[in-house]
Amino acid sequence: MTFYQPAGNEVELFRAAAENSLPVLIKGPTGCGKTRFVRYMAEQLGRPVYTVACHDDLTASDLVGRHLIGPEGTYWQDGPLTRAVREGAICYLDEVVEARKDTTVVLHPLADDRRELPIERTGELLQAAPGFMLVVSYNPGYQSLLKGMKPSTRQRFVSMSFDYPEPEVEQVIVQKESGCDSALAKQLVDLATSLRKLKDHDLEEAASTRLLIHTAYLMHSGMSPVEACRAAMIEPLSDDAVTVNALMEVVYALF
Ligand code: ADP
Repeated sequence: MTFYQPAGNEVELFRAAAENSLPVLIKGPTGCGKTRFVRYMAEQLGRPVYTVACHDDLTASDLVGRHLIGPEGTYWQDGPLTRAVREGAICYLDEVVEARKDTTVVLHPLADDRRELPIERTGELLQAAPGFMLVVSYNPGYQSLLKGMKPSTRQRFVSMSFDYPEPEVEQVIVQKESGCDSALAKQLVDLATSLRKLKDHDLEEAASTRLLIHTAYLMHSGMSPVEACRAAMIEPLSDDAVTVNALMEVVYALF
């Protein structure tokens, strides 16, 4: 069973969206539990999940499928989206705004009440099986004006915002995920809270829950707290030596 610690009403909301065959959009910074949540909900609903990490080279064929050449000539291979449509599974597109516009166009007829997927290459028009659900996520922090999702796309989705959990919740997550004791979990969450408050540094992203868990892993393997924090929490946040040193001051103050 996948462990997921809810932060609000997201479980009920996702379930209600699933019951009504509505697609879901999850916004939130990296490492705050979006992927874990989708995996957990898929388990709860008893549906398979196909996850695609989107990037700017992702083509519609990567999602829908392509003809391949085998020993007996060419044959068609479904992409993850098509598989999910046929099987009634969840298709989760992580960082969907990274994908090219022509890629997201195939999502439109699937995201409204038509629930269909035209496959140009084979001439098929697939009707999504009952359990099919489209779930997309994106990180508003990375979003450039150019790449932002179009309103016509966004308005098709039930949307939820994720953020770093409240300290008490995050402590439970860090403890359960890493197996560390509650005192260390609290210390790591305190550190993250302090780091997240630092606004004057040009950080692209704040320290995520994922980084806290990695730090606890390293400490469990015998690294000193300061070394573990540097390697798993501070260095991943910035390449700038001055910033790294400033963030390390926060670590020295707490460990
Ligand atoms: P995202 O998809 O938002 O980038 P993930 O879902 O991969 O982030 O979360 C990163 C890690 O943080 C997970 O592997 C998990 O260990 C932990 N995590 C974050 N939030 C939660 C949560 N609410 N419940 C359980 N684990 C969580």
